[in-house]
Amino acid sequence: MTASRSRGRRLAVITAGVALSVSLVPAAAPAQTPAEYARVPDAPAARGVVERQVLAISLDGFNPRLLKKLGRDGAPNLLRLFRTGASTRNARSQVEMTVTLPNHTSQLTGRRIDATEGGHGVIWNDDNPGRPDTIQEAAGEDVESIFTQVDAAGGSTALFATESKFALFKNSWPDAVDRSTILQDRDHDVTVAVKRDLLRRNRDFTFLHLGALDEAGHDKGWLSRSYLKAGRLIDAQIGILLRTIKDHARLDDLVIVLTADHGGPPGQKGHSVVTDVENYRIPFLVWGPGVDNGDLYEMNPTYGDPGEARIEFAGTQPIRNGDLANLCANLLGLGPVPDSLWGFDQTLTWTN
Ligand SMILES: [Zn+2]
Repeated sequence: MTASRSRGRRLAVITAGVALSVSLVPAAAPAQTPAEYARVPDAPAARGVVERQVLAISLDGFNPRLLKKLGRDGAPNLLRLFRTGASTRNARSQVEMTVTLPNHTSQLTGRRIDATEGGHGVIWNDDNPGRPDTIQEAAGEDVESIFTQVDAAGGSTALFATESKFALFKNSWPDAVDRSTILQDRDHDVTVAVKRDLLRRNRDFTFLHLGALDEAGHDKGWLSRSYLKAGRLIDAQIGILLRTIKDHARLDDLVIVLTADHGGPPGQKGHSVVTDVENYRIPFLVWGPGVDNGDLYEMNPTYGDPGEARIEFAGTQPIRNGDLANLCANLLGLGPVPDSLWGFDQTLTWTN
């Protein structure tokens, strides 16, 4: 790209950003900034409006053992994130289920699964006819999310995924998900779409789901040669995004939050047994400007490294994929998602 084309594109984006903030900030609250507007009254003390973008990435079926199996030759980009960010390879999926759609719904809502206990109620994992059209229908009540939280603050969001069942999220929050792009099983194409979107729009929050690991696991087994090959492909997609961030100053403020919905047992082709550590153990990572390097459990003494244990709802909690929504809200200077559970106090920090 030539310098002049680069400048032209950036100018166009800034112009679009101004138009966005003028049109979306509620006129009734002229003294408030967009971020303050969305804070719920009982949110933690004001922490200031943060000029930041968040890219949340969920690698479907990512058993953290993959990193050691691939090493720096096979996963240079993922390992760079883990080497320089705040991370753990011992976070947890949801308690009730270790399958894809319920766990992604928890990532986005901060809720547990069981609707009779205040959860989101998404207990299916396909998009067959007869399923509820929305999460609200599944829960039997209004359900908010990181998307609605950002939207209420006048921000912009996008969802990119490789499974058609992820249409549930745009269906559930049609006004708050500004863009939903689903390209079935096309991890590279969806990554390129994210890259272009980051460069052309001022997204506050982007969610990316990549499914190649899960596909290979179901086909040939977790940690099989086919799974490791998918891992190298996934790493290359992460590399595309990291190079994009490095090459474009307008993405200097972008923070990546990366986790998974579930893992999978070596040699097996399923991951639904909730008592198997290989299914419920997942990675969790925060990376970018202002994020310290180190172990997330050492940074967060109110959370507890669970070892191999399966922790339910009582006692000291591990870091979970369901912490994603309220962590991302916090990164953006926003209060917690109303009626969420995981990380509602927003104490989960990315600094020492
Ligand atoms: Zn999955």
